[in-house]
Amino acid sequence: MGAVDMNSADFEMVAGLEVHCQLATKTKLFCSCDAQSFGAQANTAVCPVCTGQPGALPVLNRAAVELGFKAALALGCRLEGSSVFARKNYFYPDLPKAYQISQYEQPFATGGGLTFGLKDGPAKRARIRRIHLEEDAGKLLHAIGSRELDHTLVDLNRCGLPLVEIVSEPDLSSGEEAHAYLVALKEVLIYAGVSSCDMEKGELRCDANVSVRRKGETALGTKVEVKNLNSFKAVKEALDHELGRQAAVLREGGRLLQESRLWDHEARRTEAMRAKEEAHDYRYFPDPDLPALVAEPGWVESLRAGLPELPAARRERYAGALGLSDYDAGVLASQRALGDYFEDAARGLAPAAVKTVVNLITTELLGRLNSEGLPVERCPVPAAAIARLAILIQNGTLSTRLAKEAFARTWESGKGPDELVAELALGQISDEGQLRDWVRSALGANPKAVEDLKAGKDRAIGRIVGAVMKLSKGKANPALVNRLIKEETKA
Ligand SMILES: [Zn+2]
Repeated sequence: MGAVDMNSADFEMVAGLEVHCQLATKTKLFCSCDAQSFGAQANTAVCPVCTGQPGALPVLNRAAVELGFKAALALGCRLEGSSVFARKNYFYPDLPKAYQISQYEQPFATGGGLTFGLKDGPAKRARIRRIHLEEDAGKLLHAIGSRELDHTLVDLNRCGLPLVEIVSEPDLSSGEEAHAYLVALKEVLIYAGVSSCDMEKGELRCDANVSVRRKGETALGTKVEVKNLNSFKAVKEALDHELGRQAAVLREGGRLLQESRLWDHEARRTEAMRAKEEAHDYRYFPDPDLPALVAEPGWVESLRAGLPELPAARRERYAGALGLSDYDAGVLASQRALGDYFEDAARGLAPAAVKTVVNLITTELLGRLNSEGLPVERCPVPAAAIARLAILIQNGTLSTRLAKEAFARTWESGKGPDELVAELALGQISDEGQLRDWVRSALGANPKAVEDLKAGKDRAIGRIVGAVMKLSKGKANPALVNRLIKEETKA
């Protein structure tokens, strides 16, 4: 890694991403087959349209168009008044029609952009070049589980699933930036309800175009397309690898090929796939079975009005109006469901209690969700219980330590914090008579500390507080104990 970094120091990366995202519709893009059949038996979600039978005609799914439009609006794109479906012609066993219906010269959206945060340094923005609608192809199976087959099976359940392809401008200059762009894009798409973006179900897929050039140059280098990027981490690693590889070729006076390369996850390097096919090889032409897609202004405006608050705006509101740290605001706004949960818990609370709610969510709740592998939606602790815990901490009934225990018990038993406080005697003891008894015992048992205290060594108070805590099994209200010790030693 170190060697690569040194070799590529005078080179910079110019990269763009092509993201395919499956729209969260019930049915496919041009037929009424089930679009949520992931995991179903092969070839059970198919019909004459999506298997390309002669005479079967496509009918455009309005819900898919609306989700595509929402994606474009959420990314600040311009919706074209009219766009055209084209046939992209090629033969492959997972594509029975021998053409894919896509949009080519006239996509439905152009322009726009996405701002993404980076660990170090200010946020960055990548422009979006275009977004178009297209149908997915089927799937070829060369193995079942770990068993390699001596033949290939075809599953057409994916054929005709609705996708948007979101193409960025080449505005990314590192693997880390590409990773951050994808994280931000996924957040926006989930917030807007466009897709659940589950990579394991193939709902979000990414190809990268990457070139390098010497720092200071303005002309673009030879573009290499990188495929087989199965995770955001793979995108990051593959791009950083390509920077090192391409820089090494150029440094040695070599020439880069315009080609497609596959990321080898095991070997952690890219391998040449095939010479880049020219776009005209696909013989695109408008699909004669589908009319132009017209984005009527009233329709578009009603979709725009239906968009929820997006992550960037939410982050700003949390950091601004609510006064949270940028870090906390970023964590809470990263998932729509988590932000909603936080807002439910914080509603109507005083600012100090809101801060306590934030701490409970970012430490206790997220820690537990992570360790159990659960999404926020399945969290067994209702937002109202978090709010109540925060109030009990604020009014001194629960110490932070006892609140942690109450949280854990609420998670496990489903009981509310108040019920637990009463039932388990979790509450702090604030009874002055009882506390004064303990304080007097502690003072009697620690004459040296009392002497130090009277001599003005204020730190000695900690030893007496500790003794009282021991007597009370950790339940004494520390603020009150401090006050009582001062009272008892003043005389
Ligand atoms: Zn179908």
